[in-house]
Amino acid sequence: MSPTDSPLCPPPRGDVNFWARYRVYMESAEWQAKRRRVLGRAHYLCEGCGTRKAEHVHHLTYVHFGNEFLWELVAVCEPCHERLHGRPIGARPRTGSNSLRVSRA
Ligand SMILES: [Zn+2]
Ligand SMILES: [Zn+2]
Repeated sequence: MSPTDSPLCPPPRGDVNFWARYRVYMESAEWQAKRRRVLGRAHYLCEGCGTRKAEHVHHLTYVHFGNEFLWELVAVCEPCHERLHGRPIGARPRTGSNSLRVSRA
């Protein structure tokens, strides 16, 4: 129930199990610790704008999801995080035209 955990950072499309793993991971002690390390690394300042307080941790990639390198994660403030994802926080990801990924059944 941490208000600072963003449900953003959309996982790769087509990976049905991803959301389940994502949810579990977001609640895990490992993620909480990693998150704190990333925020601490940024001195709780947004790594996007450098002025606002970092409250979110954004995944640059999900390649190592669950065992990320810290440099695959960035501490960001909410406005920057929104900008990163191109949509307001809380909005549903749009299934846009760029569904270039191969979806596996
Ligand atoms: Zn994100
Ligand atoms: Zn920012």
